[in-house]
Amino acid sequence: MFRRLVEKAPAKAHGHHKHSTKLRSVRYAEHAAPAKPPARSRKPQRTVYDVANGETLPGKLVRKEGGKPASDTAAEQAFDNAGIALAFFREVFGRNSVDGKGLPIVSAVHYGQAFENAMWNGRQMIYGDGDEHVGNFTAALDIIAHELSHGVTQYLIPGGLGVERIPAAEREFKEQRYRLTGQSGALNESFSDVMGSLVKQWHARETVREADWLIGEKVLARGMGRAVRSLKSPGNERVTWRGDEQMRSMDQYYEGCDVHDASGIPSHAFYQAAMKIGGHAWEKAGHIWFEAYDNLSRTAQFADFAQATLAVAAKRHGEASLPHNAVHAAWRKVKVLG
Ligand SMILES: [Zn+2]
Repeated sequence: MFRRLVEKAPAKAHGHHKHSTKLRSVRYAEHAAPAKPPARSRKPQRTVYDVANGETLPGKLVRKEGGKPASDTAAEQAFDNAGIALAFFREVFGRNSVDGKGLPIVSAVHYGQAFENAMWNGRQMIYGDGDEHVGNFTAALDIIAHELSHGVTQYLIPGGLGVERIPAAEREFKEQRYRLTGQSGALNESFSDVMGSLVKQWHARETVREADWLIGEKVLARGMGRAVRSLKSPGNERVTWRGDEQMRSMDQYYEGCDVHDASGIPSHAFYQAAMKIGGHAWEKAGHIWFEAYDNLSRTAQFADFAQATLAVAAKRHGEASLPHNAVHAAWRKVKVLG
């Protein structure tokens, strides 16, 4: 999911090393194409299963498209929020589900024991119930959109972006098969945060100035912090959590850093560009980011993405237009471009 989303934060602040490791490592699970050919429906096709705190998928069907609301709150939230995220991709980018072809979205709730994560495992959404530090994932629209966006990446960029298979011996749970590394992996994470924030802004019809630019402000337990990440102020512990090490410029970047720390650099560039362009972030900045992202190779670096966004901004709005200048200034601000 957004793992480090949830991923790293609280644990580290409290020195729970094991928890922290898990938060850092989970995030992305699988990138293989689904075995079944997707249905071609124009309408969302959602189903939710209850795994009853086990780890065996799919679990018991508790909610389906057109059916009665589930009695379970988590199941109903997973269903509703997936619907909002799918509507965002459809209405803003004309994308029909994560694969562009109406892939049915399956969600499993109550996965594992005190499982403090949500994720896209390459085929479906999986939600744990969390623990005393972090939880309530199904209530968090941005977290759900973040995870579904990993699915979008899987289909947009053949082979994935910055994805590496985890050796069986290093897996902490069954569904953990892949991890993200390097700048490519950080771009993958950042795209999910940008889309997560945009879904929330789009749903609330917020302008760039009205938006809080936070990710996961609903998942941290009381006393753990306000949010998991901030696109506006990456690594600012006062608006996120104690121990947040997200980066806001290349001055802080080092080889081998966590992709959820490095993702702050391109995410902050998006924030900077969107603020300069103004209005609704999804209308111009969001389209520039989405179209540029679609053209990346699986080993793309920050500078590659920066150049791709500039090319799209120039194509859509013209050289030296406000959006083109804003995108250029944003990448200079985070020191990806000189
Ligand atoms: Zn993620």
